Amino acid sequence: MSEEIKHEKCAIIGSGPAGYTAAIYAARASMNPVVFTGKDPGGQLIQTTDVDNFPGYPEGVIGPDMMEDFRKQAERFGTRVEYELIGKVDFTKQPFQLWTEGGRAITADTVIIATGATAKWLGIEGEQRLMNKGVSACAVCDGFFFRGMEVVVVGGGDTAVEEATYLAKLCPKVHLLVRRDELRASKAMQARLKAAENIEIHWNTEAQEVLGAEEVEAVRVINNKTKEESVIKAQGFFVAIGHKPNTDLFKGILDMDETGYLITEPDSTHTNIEGVFAAGDVQDKKYRQAVTAAGTGCMAALDAEMYLAEKEAE
Ligand code: NDP
Repeated sequence: MSEEIKHEKCAIIGSGPAGYTAAIYAARASMNPVVFTGKDPGGQLIQTTDVDNFPGYPEGVIGPDMMEDFRKQAERFGTRVEYELIGKVDFTKQPFQLWTEGGRAITADTVIIATGATAKWLGIEGEQRLMNKGVSACAVCDGFFFRGMEVVVVGGGDTAVEEATYLAKLCPKVHLLVRRDELRASKAMQARLKAAENIEIHWNTEAQEVLGAEEVEAVRVINNKTKEESVIKAQGFFVAIGHKPNTDLFKGILDMDETGYLITEPDSTHTNIEGVFAAGDVQDKKYRQAVTAAGTGCMAALDAEMYLAEKEAE
């Protein structure tokens, strides 16, 4: 006998600030949402320690604790949280169909995608070991803890330049490691870089190892042209070589840009499929903050509610 397929008004894929904020709003609008957490319940904030820039926490908050608060708040209004990964979707007809990795099928009137993005790492010695002990992928989140210290930033794109210039306001010296002899960053961003006197660009330079017993103390680098090795003393190591949006599941189904970010209609969370919405880092390569993700999560739930109301009025 085949298992009965459960029908949902609103299925939310992803459990970071965007997913849970969408759930809080959807639950309060009587949409009885279900959140599929994915493989990292709580999203990227689970990997951080102190969060000092999320409004409402005057003393700061530990990332995992904050995500626990998000979940509890969503559950308080009746959100159901399923600790499962969605492995397949069919958005070709209403109701939409989703399958968990375990093969369980559900149908849904609306789907909110909040699967986030994953920071790319170099994979060098010391990087994972010293994670949150000086190694970071977000200057805006963690830069404050490095005030008055020397730091290294890796990358040559807009993110790296943005992070370096942000850190240059807090730190006496910023070393920017660029693997080629030119930057990928836009001309406007390059101008910002030139204006900062305390940023030293190390061209053709790659990080080989992050050094330090308990915390980052230095970075071993190599010039890939001369093969000369050296050590840069620094307490912070910021990797800014790009993010990968978690959109493999939606390839060929939803419109994406050339780097895989979901495309939403301007000033909304609508994707190219009516009834499917996207919120958070999965559709935002520019701001990527917990608070902006939460904001678009709210928008997605409101968009889904309006969509359902319009459908019911038809
Ligand atoms: P990008 O892919 O644009 O740049 C990645 C950078 O990291 C490149 O310089 C690349 O080098 C370097 N890199 C990649 N892998 C390695 C590695 N293993 N070792 C050393 N260096 C490496 O990513 P960004 O995150 O910078 O930007 C992503 C998108 O977001 C872009 O479209 C960007 O314009 C946009 N953005 C816009 C902002 C704004 O408008 N304010 C702010 C931030 C991002 P190489 O050049 O040699 O490939």
